[in-house]
Amino acid sequence: MNVSGKRAGAILSVNLDAIASNYTLLRKTHTQQALAAVIKEDAYGLGLEPVARTLWKAGNRMFFVAFLDEAEALRKILPEADIHVLSGFFEGTAEDFFALDVVPVLNTPEEIATWRAIAKKKSQKVRVDLHVDTGMNRLGLTMKEAETVAENPHSLEGFDVSVVMSHLACADTPEHALNETQRDRFETVRKWFPMGQGSFAASSGIFLDPSYHFDLGRPGAAVFGVNPQPENPSPMTQVIELKGKIVQVRDVDTHQGVGYGATHRTRRKSRIATVTAGYGDGYLRSLSNKGAGYLSGHTVPVVGRVSMDLITFDVTDVPEKLVHAGAEIELIGTNVTVDDVAEAAGTNGYEVLTALGARYHRTYSGQTA
Ligand SMILES: *Cc1c(COP(=O)(O)O)cnc(C)c1O
Repeated sequence: MNVSGKRAGAILSVNLDAIASNYTLLRKTHTQQALAAVIKEDAYGLGLEPVARTLWKAGNRMFFVAFLDEAEALRKILPEADIHVLSGFFEGTAEDFFALDVVPVLNTPEEIATWRAIAKKKSQKVRVDLHVDTGMNRLGLTMKEAETVAENPHSLEGFDVSVVMSHLACADTPEHALNETQRDRFETVRKWFPMGQGSFAASSGIFLDPSYHFDLGRPGAAVFGVNPQPENPSPMTQVIELKGKIVQVRDVDTHQGVGYGATHRTRRKSRIATVTAGYGDGYLRSLSNKGAGYLSGHTVPVVGRVSMDLITFDVTDVPEKLVHAGAEIELIGTNVTVDDVAEAAGTNGYEVLTALGARYHRTYSGQTA
C-alpha cells in the first residue's frame, strides 16, 4: 500500500537514476568490473521491484538476498536473474531453492553435508556458494572447517561451486589491521577452493586497494548512497529525499520545555515547527536534540525528543514567511545526507535506510520508474 501524498505526513522520493549511477561507479572502481548487487531487506528499505529493475537495466545480472522469501519475490520480478541467498538455508526449504532456481550460500559443514545428500539425487551438478569466515566470527565456515572440506575430495561432490566468498569486518576503516589479516586468509581460501568466482569486497572493500577485489564485488549500501568510507568525502550520489510536512508553528517563551520529558529548554523566545514524522516512521529517537532538518536554505536543529509521529524543530532563525503549516522540511536528502543523519543518531546509514517506515508516500523518479 502506498499512502497518498495528500494524506501522508512525509514524502519519500527515491531517485533510480542515482542508484544506476552509483552502480556504474562501483563497477568502474572494482578492478574486475564484476559485481553482484546485494538487495536484501527490500533493497535496503528502498523497494525491491523498482531497485531490481533499475539494476538489471544498468547491467547487473547476479543478485544476493538474505532470505528465500526475498529470492522468491525477486524471481517474480526478474525471471532471468542469477539469484543467491546469503543466510536462509533452513531445514525443509531445499526443494524451494530448486523450484525457484536460486543458489544457496553454504555456511557450515552441516549445510554442505545436507546439500551434498540432496545433490546426489539430482541428475546434474547443483550450483552452490561457499562462505568462509576469515575473521569476522559471524557466519561461514571457520578456516579450520574450510581446510577440512578442502582436504576431503568427496566433500564437494555433486556441486558446481559458483562463488567462494568471505566478508570483511572492518572495511570502512582502511587502517584496521584485521583487513590485511582477512585478505591474507582469503588468499589461502582461494588456494583451497580455486573454482568459481572469489568474492570478498562489499561496498567499503571496493574502496580499499585492488588487492581486496578478487573476482566479484558484492556491494549493497553504496549503491543506495551510503558513504563506503565515512572518514572521506562520499563518492556516492544521494538516492533518497525524505520531506516532512510542518503541521503547526508555535511561539514559545524563554525557559520553557519542549516535547516529552521537557529535555529541550528554550534559552530565548523561540519558534518551534512541529513536523509529522517520528520514530514510528524510522526517524530514529536517538535523533532527539541531535538531528537537523533543512528548510529553505536554513539548517534547523531537532529540539526535544522525537516522538512516534512528530518531530519538533527550532526554526527561530528562519524568516517567518517560509515557516507555515503545510511547508516541507528536508529530513534526509542532499543537504542532510543519510550519512549526516546516521552520525547524528549514533548509527550507520544502513540502519537509517532500513528503518524507513511504511507510512511515507513513496515516489520513484528516473528513467526506470
Ligand atoms: C549485506 C552484505 C553485503 C553487502 O554489504 P554492503 O556493506 O551493504 O555493501 C555483502 N556481503 C554480505 C555477506 C552481506 O551480508
